[in-house]
Amino acid sequence: MNKQTNIWMPYAQMQTAPPPLEVVKTQGAYLYLKDGTRLIDGIASWWTACHGYQHPHILEAINTQSQTLSHVMLGGLIHPQVTRLCERLTQLLPEPLAHVMLSESGSVAVEIALKMALQYWQQVGKTKKRQFAFLKNDYHGDTLYTMGLCDPENGMHRFFQSQLPPQQRITLPATEKEWDALNDWLAMHHETLAGIVVEPLIQGAIGMAVYAPAQLKQLCALCHRYSILVIMDEIFTGFYRTGSCFAFEQAQVIPDIVCLSKALTGGVLPLAATIAHQKIYDAFLSPHPEHALMHGTTFMGNALACAAANASLDLFEQNDYAAQVQRIEKQLTQGFSSLKHDDHITDVRIKGAMGAIELKKASPQTMLAHQQAFQAAGIFLRPINNVFYTTPALNIQDDLLERLIHVMVKQLSTHILTPSISQKGVPA
Ligand SMILES: *Cc1c(COP(=O)(O)O)cnc(C)c1O
Repeated sequence: MNKQTNIWMPYAQMQTAPPPLEVVKTQGAYLYLKDGTRLIDGIASWWTACHGYQHPHILEAINTQSQTLSHVMLGGLIHPQVTRLCERLTQLLPEPLAHVMLSESGSVAVEIALKMALQYWQQVGKTKKRQFAFLKNDYHGDTLYTMGLCDPENGMHRFFQSQLPPQQRITLPATEKEWDALNDWLAMHHETLAGIVVEPLIQGAIGMAVYAPAQLKQLCALCHRYSILVIMDEIFTGFYRTGSCFAFEQAQVIPDIVCLSKALTGGVLPLAATIAHQKIYDAFLSPHPEHALMHGTTFMGNALACAAANASLDLFEQNDYAAQVQRIEKQLTQGFSSLKHDDHITDVRIKGAMGAIELKKASPQTMLAHQQAFQAAGIFLRPINNVFYTTPALNIQDDLLERLIHVMVKQLSTHILTPSISQKGVPA
């Protein structure tokens, strides 16, 4: 990385990371680079650009909104876009999930959920319920409190571990015996557990781990039995990534709190939402000012972001994204099928519009070489540890997806990396 840069890049060792790619234009599934090349974006900017880049309907909504009202604080003020968005979000969710607090990032949406849960238990008199559980391999954000809910061993925040409030890591059971053990453990600990935060069905940041809806269903049933609030972190999975609008729908459960962000505005502007169950909201209603939820970030409910989110919801209403994701899943399943028997690939995981290929013992140098080869073939991908994955735009054209899959399969089934691979930069 150029030591003179003023940009402190995310998750990057600035001394050794290759220089980032400079993007000058985006359109549909493509990134256009400064040097004139065009890459199919296999990741859709951390899977936010679910309708593809520069979707005209979203851009038009932002432009129109900017003519009249770009931003007012939500302190004592509302505007038509925020009213409409909160109403529509609650309509998408099961009926008891009826109260939306907005923010600007997924991490903050999870922080808000944790604050809601902590204060809820205080206000209903269960004052010992102050700890949280999370699933092994989960990721819930980069802020101080959410880092404590990311996997301490396999996650990326080891440096901070000693500074984080201790929480409880749960391994998702797979057998009857393990379910019994979890039941016994919860029977002992539920009095101090405020809630559990879960990434439903796909654990993204760890490298796209996948688990079954039946496991999620059983986990939620156990938590409800022991009065442990279920906080569904749908920041990755929300808006059809797993096939249904929300991943938890596949487990037929009703969460107590849902967190949304990433695809909420179609990847155009930052926005997040924390949606609470009626019973939680009700516990904050009181004549005492100190029973209010003390949270209010400056740009929450930004009108341009809400306009983008409303436009994105229009697109979800107007198009059959569930069917489109089914098509993507089928294409990924067929395309990746030959890799299952490749002896240097340990696992192939597909769920909805997410396909991941885990390599056996691949060094960071090997992963980088693969990444550069993808780039030379016109594809942008960015690995997590030894996993290459794709989370394309949900409306990616069949032929572009076919090309993406073809390049991934061809490259990752090559044992010997060609030394002629360009050393040109890839992003950190
Ligand atoms: C991305 C993500 C977050 C954090 O969201 P930010 O907007 O990056 O703060 C939290 N949870 C999950 C599951 C995510 O994928």
